[in-house]
Amino acid sequence: MVLQKRKKSISLFNMSTATNTMEKIVSLCKRRGFIFPSSEIYGGFSSCYDYGPLGVELKNNVKKAWWQAMVQANQDIFGLDSSILMHPKIWEASGHVENFTDPLVDCKKCKKRFRADHLLETSRGIKPDLDGRRDVPIDLKNIKCPDCGGDLTEPRTFNLLMKTYIGPLEDSSALAYLRGETCQGIYVNFLNIIDSQRRKLPFGIAQIGKAFRNEITPGNFTFRMREFEQMEMQWFCKPEEAPKWFEQWREKRMQWYLDLGLRKENIHWRQHETDERAHYAKDAWDIELKFPFSKAGEWSELAGVHNRGDWDLSRHSKFSGQELSVVDEETKEKFYPYIIETSDGADRATLAFLTDAYTEVQTRSGEEDTKHETEVVLRLHPRLAPIKIAVLPLSKKIELQKTSQIVLDLVKAKWMCQYDDTGSIGKRYRRQDEIGTPYCITVDFATLEDQAVTVRDRDTMKQDRIKISELSQYFQNKLNF
Ligand code: ATP
Repeated sequence: MVLQKRKKSISLFNMSTATNTMEKIVSLCKRRGFIFPSSEIYGGFSSCYDYGPLGVELKNNVKKAWWQAMVQANQDIFGLDSSILMHPKIWEASGHVENFTDPLVDCKKCKKRFRADHLLETSRGIKPDLDGRRDVPIDLKNIKCPDCGGDLTEPRTFNLLMKTYIGPLEDSSALAYLRGETCQGIYVNFLNIIDSQRRKLPFGIAQIGKAFRNEITPGNFTFRMREFEQMEMQWFCKPEEAPKWFEQWREKRMQWYLDLGLRKENIHWRQHETDERAHYAKDAWDIELKFPFSKAGEWSELAGVHNRGDWDLSRHSKFSGQELSVVDEETKEKFYPYIIETSDGADRATLAFLTDAYTEVQTRSGEEDTKHETEVVLRLHPRLAPIKIAVLPLSKKIELQKTSQIVLDLVKAKWMCQYDDTGSIGKRYRRQDEIGTPYCITVDFATLEDQAVTVRDRDTMKQDRIKISELSQYFQNKLNF
């Protein structure tokens, strides 16, 4: 099959001369099959992305690690997969129909569109008193368009919920919303979990799933998209115990990111100001990261832990007519459980691990072909790495191919592997380093004699000679998670 010459990719991905780190990462993602622009042959579709063969592995590993930490490791957290389309009244109860708005301004000259709260923050260093969601006036006096210096329109609010219609008629009776956050599906299943799992407080419900927001200014690659995936856990507890649980969940969520390799110096907590919090939130903290696109001294939100009080269950009780309060066993009084929410973006976490792992090194000694002075090593935690083991026959000789195939069959039964027999061994090591493969197995001519292979460690560059019969156990010890 011969492929015709292809149209140029959209500009973000067409970066053979990329100089800054973010551009290089975006380019690597496309070139090696982590992330592609959506609908690329049609010129792309604003802020939508497709995960390629390596990207889908990486993101799945992130989601798996989250699910293991939240659901598998905790007997009192239950998994859920609720539908994306839900009763529209849910979004009235949650406040999204009324309050899920961003303040929007247009440049009168170049017609570009901006979030007014972001402009205020970048021009005057003021974090406006809204969570990007509340209808409060924003004073943009003397602030001009950051792109062309033109005058801006007055801010107007813009609802972020994506609308659709159920059935053949496109009228208000058929209106529905693509969910703007996954947690609402959890609240409306609160009673189902209590009944089916025979649970009492405290307990949690966890869910991973798509969310949709008509973001005004999507951008920074997969950092802000209109379709994205969330990983959310809602912890239901007695009101007086909420502060204690809040601290515990804060600690656990930060530790999760650190255990999976985010560098301590690049990640921190930020507490929301009282007037910055969503109106129902009792307390809110964000985990923030220095992404390559963050300006010097600036941090960007990675995840959040929120004390949502009794807002959600009391609102859904009121709007659905179904009582969601519980009875205190000691006092016999009814109350609405408080909710501690841990909210993470699967795409944003994936981007964080990718960007934080991206390292450029000088050509590493001991390898042939030293023409390339700078090499990329993606120092992903082995648990997250898309490919765990690469099998590299030293040459294409048939005897080596056969033995390599036996080795591949052995390891691919348990781990995601890649077979590569093209180019020099140095080039092949570099290709694996660039995608973060923690281990490379080289099958050489000595293998035919001693039935052993060389295993190279991505980070230490140490090489171990291991008997093929002991390979499984060797990797079992190394990739033990
Ligand atoms: P932001 O302030 O960045 O708009 P938010 O405070 O609205 O985020 P939440 O509603 O708390 O975000 O959503 C929880 C998590 O979901 C965020 O911390 C982030 O990881 C992820 N997330 C939110 N919006 C997007 C988006 N448009 N694209 C990708 N991930 C997102």
